[in-house]
Amino acid sequence: MSPKGRPEGEYRSAQHEGSPVRARETFEVAVIGGGLVGAAIAFGLRSLGPRLALLDEGDVAYRAARGNFGLIWVQGKGMGLPSYATWTQRSAREWPRLAGELLREAAIDVALAQPGGIHVCAAQGELAQRAAALEALQQQDGFRRYDVEILEGRELRQRLPGIGPDVAGGTYCPLDGHCNPLKLLRALHVAVVRAGVAYRADHRVVGITARRGGFVLDTARGVVEAGKIVLAAGLSNAVLAPMVGLAAPVRPNKGQVIALERMPRFLALPVATIRQTDEGTVLIGDSQQDRGFDESLGLDVLAVMAARAVQVFPMLAAARIVRAWAALRVMSADGFPIYEQSAAHPGAFVATCHSGVTLAAAHAYALAPAVAAGVLPESFKPYTARRFGVPQAA
Ligand SMILES: Cc1cc2nc3c(=O)[nH]c(=O)nc-3n(C[C@H](O)[C@H](O)[C@H](O)COP(=O)(O)OP(=O)(O)OC[C@H]3O[C@@H](n4cnc5c(N)ncnc54)[C@H](O)[C@@H]3O)c2cc1C
Repeated sequence: MSPKGRPEGEYRSAQHEGSPVRARETFEVAVIGGGLVGAAIAFGLRSLGPRLALLDEGDVAYRAARGNFGLIWVQGKGMGLPSYATWTQRSAREWPRLAGELLREAAIDVALAQPGGIHVCAAQGELAQRAAALEALQQQDGFRRYDVEILEGRELRQRLPGIGPDVAGGTYCPLDGHCNPLKLLRALHVAVVRAGVAYRADHRVVGITARRGGFVLDTARGVVEAGKIVLAAGLSNAVLAPMVGLAAPVRPNKGQVIALERMPRFLALPVATIRQTDEGTVLIGDSQQDRGFDESLGLDVLAVMAARAVQVFPMLAAARIVRAWAALRVMSADGFPIYEQSAAHPGAFVATCHSGVTLAAAHAYALAPAVAAGVLPESFKPYTARRFGVPQAA
């Protein structure tokens, strides 16, 4: 695993030779990674105030948190792991609390809207398949059921005026929604800083040593000691986790997003691949490619995304593209999160997932308190990296 432009071996190297002064700070808890996962956990721990540190790498980092699509999405998730569906639903239901607290504490409106969302099926066969897949999902033992409506013809056109004549239908789930993910990241950072948490930018962690009663982190700006640590460094977790007897086998998965010009509001609710932001911009997203650490744009992929979007909403053909970007998801082999406390070095936790917007509320209100208590409850058991058969320290 190689963080941006740097060979793996640079971790734990004496790369800061020449720095005149090496600072040393001590905290009760240090969260490593200030992306959406780390910032949401830090938000959940903010009552620690100055006893908590949030360490981030800086602008050279890969940051899914800055390139994502902004959906809070429940429908279709949890095949093969019903508890993940429960976890996702829990987060979606707690999102209004999160948005409210961020508004009060950071004075930032993250533009949360949860009017439900639609997964559009272009062809008739696709709709039947989608309906069958959602039914199979909900039939799983232990699945916490939620409402899903199968929309055809007139029903779909009523919910999504402007939809193309060729679109066969869609599935609607009232729990789905979206937010402004950049405002979310900003609001989490502002709220934790206002709570007195020590936010340290440019503190890339290059080495971790476990010792009695805590951990010593070697960072780009000096040494940080902490009683507990949470590894929430996105793709870098793969390198950091083995330093404390954990494993985080995550790989990059490239997603590309197209931003169109601002348009008069035509989309009252998000579609899985197209949404209109609070500011009127139309976003087209959801490509997935395994290309390693490649963040380049692919015109071929963008063309397919644009053509599909025009099939769904023909009027988009006349809209101007303002920009497009690619960003890397943090993906495990089965797509489910990894949450675990080190058996070899208790007090070291790892947290990683590919739906950090959706799960932000669960991370703040369920994972963070578990970290504070020092015990991950039974409900976190399915998320251990042991499911991948990766060796961990005893
Ligand atoms: C194109 C795309 C679309 C997406 N759409 C959605 C969506 O609609 N809904 C949804 O829920 N999710 C979506 N996601 C996923 C979501 O963005 C991620 O789940 C989330 O950003 C992951 O957060 P993270 O904090 O784990 O990782 P990142 O956001 O990558 O953050 C990792 C952080 O760790 C820091 N870091 C890295 N290494 C170190 C180190 N050694 N020391 C200190 N700090 C370090 C970096 O500076 C960075 O800030 C999407 C992702 C992409 C790429």
